[in-house]
Amino acid sequence: MNQSPSTATTPEASSKAPGMVIIGGGLSAATAAETLRKEGYEGAVTIVADEPEIPYQRPPLSKGFLAGKEGEDALLPLPASWYTENNVTVLTGTAAKALDPAAHTVTLSDGTTLPYAKALIATGAAPRRIPFPGVDLEGVYTFRTKADSVGLHALLEGGGKNVVMIGSGWIGMEIAATATELGNTVALMGLEEVPLSVAIGAELGTVFANRHKEAGVRFELPASAAEIQGTDGHVTSVLTTTGATLPADIVIVAVGVVPNIGLAQDAGLAINNGIEVDASLRTSAEDVFAAGDVANAMHPVTGAYARSEHWANAIASGKVAAKSMLGQDAVLDDIPYFYTDQFDLGMEYSGFGALTKDAQVVVRGDTATGEFIAFWVLDGRVVAGMNVNIWDVQDAIKSLISSRRQVDTAKLADPKTPLEEI
Ligand SMILES: Cc1cc2nc3c(=O)[nH]c(=O)nc-3n(C[C@H](O)[C@H](O)[C@H](O)COP(=O)(O)OP(=O)(O)OC[C@H]3O[C@@H](n4cnc5c(N)ncnc54)[C@H](O)[C@@H]3O)c2cc1C
Repeated sequence: MNQSPSTATTPEASSKAPGMVIIGGGLSAATAAETLRKEGYEGAVTIVADEPEIPYQRPPLSKGFLAGKEGEDALLPLPASWYTENNVTVLTGTAAKALDPAAHTVTLSDGTTLPYAKALIATGAAPRRIPFPGVDLEGVYTFRTKADSVGLHALLEGGGKNVVMIGSGWIGMEIAATATELGNTVALMGLEEVPLSVAIGAELGTVFANRHKEAGVRFELPASAAEIQGTDGHVTSVLTTTGATLPADIVIVAVGVVPNIGLAQDAGLAINNGIEVDASLRTSAEDVFAAGDVANAMHPVTGAYARSEHWANAIASGKVAAKSMLGQDAVLDDIPYFYTDQFDLGMEYSGFGALTKDAQVVVRGDTATGEFIAFWVLDGRVVAGMNVNIWDVQDAIKSLISSRRQVDTAKLADPKTPLEEI
């Protein structure tokens, strides 16, 4: 019988033979475990998760879950029963402290050593911490985990608080929207002239900024925090680098994330803005793979490394990593995708962000109505597309991107021409 990893072990043998060890308990880890089982792997699968939770997904944390509109179920990619039914061990509240690629072992925070046949590092990312003066005052938070969301919800739910957001990216804008909807007063600062412009440019960032302004969000842009000020150890205001004093009961620092590379670095793996992996998500160490926010993967379409910090990549890369661990021929060649919800603006984006910098923006519809599709066109080809409050067009957008066909920008801009006919 072929003893490939996918067929090698009986359940009895699997309890003894080193199996698959997944380090990190996020969406990428859950997807990898699910894929291992779907692909028929019967050996031991262990997820080492330092948070006290079984794997959960983060997008609702800044949106519906923070607003109190969605419950725990919205967070779980797989119910708790799935892990028992599929004989997948989740070691919650347990950190992987060391990885030894030569010995094929992972040392855990409880002092035990776990042997592995193949290991996946899916340790995600952590909020970037900037040592602003006053950052240690009570009332100053970063935001990444379910516990962060539960804690912030408790502070925001009654409304009436002054919230200062440091950071004008996706997370900052989403929390600003949710906090406003809960009846709080929000001031937001960031290094961009227009929020989100690093990701989608000033013209389209303005659409989101305008919606926030309509709802009462105050923007201080571009500005950073010169000092977070407080009384009796609790924050009271933020002095901006532009000289404004913003009253604050709560300050949230949302200035991006840094990949959790410590374990990989200590193990001697190649690091390059995250853990460097090839298109099959193999690290520089044999039998060690990386996926999700922590992995900087060679993308076969662009020929460049890209580290994506988005939900869809956590899923796609979790699947590819699992298949690679099983010795299958899998590559991560998806068109990157992400989404956001802010007030009544729902948006989906597909494309190669790195190619949009010199691209022409073509808008189909009217941005002022809040219902439109924007395309980024480079050398006559669509390299990215973003639909705002228009749905069921992602397949057509992805097909325009993947076909690499030359497009007529007048037709692209005309809502009467079906996307399939461009
Ligand atoms: C508030 C918020 C909202 C978001 N909204 C969106 C959105 O709307 N759309 C979108 O596309 N993306 C969104 N994202 C991004 C998306 O959630 C991430 O891309 C995704 O969580 C990455 O999954 P991951 O499994 O790679 O890492 P993570 O979700 O970060 O999970 C990694 C886990 O590993 C654990 N870990 C780290 N080191 C160790 C160790 N040594 N041992 C054991 N465990 C370890 C971490 O504590 C963490 O629990 C959002 C992110 C946040 C924080």
